[in-house]
Amino acid sequence: MVKCPLCDKDSSSEQHPNADATIFNCVTCGKFAIGGLQLAAGWTPQEQGRRYHLSALTKSTKTLVMIDAGTVKRLADGLFVDPPVPRKIEAIVRRVADQSKEIGARIVMRLDHDYPIATCRTAREMRVLFDEAIKMGYLSGNTDETSVTVKGWQWLTEKPNATSSMAFIAMSFDDKLRPVKEAISKAIGAAGYEPIRVDEEEYVGGVMDKIVALIRESRFVVADFTGNRGGVYYEAGFALGLGITVIQVCTHSQLDSTDLRVRLHFDVNHLNFLHWKEGELQDFSTRLKDRILAVLGRGPLVAATD
Ligand SMILES: [Zn+2]
Repeated sequence: MVKCPLCDKDSSSEQHPNADATIFNCVTCGKFAIGGLQLAAGWTPQEQGRRYHLSALTKSTKTLVMIDAGTVKRLADGLFVDPPVPRKIEAIVRRVADQSKEIGARIVMRLDHDYPIATCRTAREMRVLFDEAIKMGYLSGNTDETSVTVKGWQWLTEKPNATSSMAFIAMSFDDKLRPVKEAISKAIGAAGYEPIRVDEEEYVGGVMDKIVALIRESRFVVADFTGNRGGVYYEAGFALGLGITVIQVCTHSQLDSTDLRVRLHFDVNHLNFLHWKEGELQDFSTRLKDRILAVLGRGPLVAATD
């Protein structure tokens, strides 16, 4: 057992397989990696007081976050900000909802493990917000067995998840589009968000529920209409219905093709599409990143490339 560098609790650690970094697995902060230099340098008192932002980040992401000098600089520069109290309460209700397999399911909340999900500094802060969620009628019960109320489900359904760092990619599974998928993922990552995509095998396995849940959880959706796949129209429409921003892309030829199977369907073609051309995907990726930054602002994750 070693001390978690983010919350000082006991955690396990292992060497990162292909980077100068250590991977920690902490019951409070989740699994994350921290660069060797950063780990050796430790924290300034100011960074120390702001570490809870990093716990919030590592707890909420599905991919392994690397905390490096860039992350710590952004922390020191004050770029991580506290969400307003209603957002913190929303994050708690959403956490219970995400774990509920049915309406009325009873979920155990461990305040000492779960407080980073609401960007709290301590379990005590989480306690106040949890009690408030109960008073507001969004949750019922107590931390040992809590449920989202019908009022709580309605409240969540009516609002897009503004605290999420996830971006759902809706596009065809055609193998030829793999480089496009990579260009989109790269743009999302460079803007500070986490690209999420369901694999074809999972899709065929009938996971509409999972797709719906992932879109619901996402901050925005990037939809590539290339190939005119029905699922992409469905996913984009579903997201728009929830008030989630959809950034729409397609291949260049799709905009003015005379072939109706290729051409964009009329009900979407007036929208402001970003288009890509083979051989110019790097440029497309940069334009997409700029679009994301313009529409949504920079996301909470560290940009891998800029
Ligand atoms: Zn921790």
